[in-house]
Amino acid sequence: CGIVGYVGPQRAQDVVIDGLRRLEYRGYDSAGVAIVHGGELAVAKRSGKLANLEKVLADHPLPAAHTAIGHTRWATHGPPNDANAHPHTGGARRIALVHNGIIENFAELRARIEADDHAFLSETDTEIAAHLVELQVQSGVDLPTAMQRVCQQLDGAFTLVAVDAEDPERVVAARRNSPLVVGLGDGENFVGSDVTAFIEHTREALELGQDQIVTLTRDEVTVTDFWGTPVEATPFHVDWDL
Ligand code: GLU
Repeated sequence: CGIVGYVGPQRAQDVVIDGLRRLEYRGYDSAGVAIVHGGELAVAKRSGKLANLEKVLADHPLPAAHTAIGHTRWATHGPPNDANAHPHTGGARRIALVHNGIIENFAELRARIEADDHAFLSETDTEIAAHLVELQVQSGVDLPTAMQRVCQQLDGAFTLVAVDAEDPERVVAARRNSPLVVGLGDGENFVGSDVTAFIEHTREALELGQDQIVTLTRDEVTVTDFWGTPVEATPFHVDWDL
């Protein structure tokens, strides 16, 4: 339902939690955050209000990190419990991923890799995307290429945002039939399901078009289609008050 991603010099989990709070108006049943630190992921997620997640983070602080993704969930597949909350990870916990929307062909994709002894931890339509992106990076391609290859296989409506533990300062996001906006900062960049996710930090934004993928580092934002062809995206200034 609500999505935030960040890469930059600030404490990434704080930027993401603040963004999720600003997206609360959309309604949700669970919340979670993943950070990349020292070649590993740390994930915290809870059903219920953001306050539940904040309590977990207060009791078990995540290491400080410069890259994070966060999500508030409105369950469509699987009840609102801790396991079904996003972010989801692949089996090797190398990729963490959040998703808005519905992956319509998740069952057939899941059956295909479950046959290879892949254990799933949730009942969501989302978790398959985390596994598929992870299998791609494990085969040796980079995160943007992995995201392209997975998006080519998915049907439905999705905004996806992923991080790779082995590529700690990069966030990759994709969209089809579901909104995704990029916030352009100075030495930091953001993604959100809408501009409220990052409006405290920047009013320069890019709206992603249908079937596009964006790759963010601190200093660079590149957009392609699902086949890797570069796309020219036009920035806009958010001049309305929120
Ligand atoms: N379909 C996904 C789920 O049920 C994402 C729902 C959402 O957009 O929050 O977990």
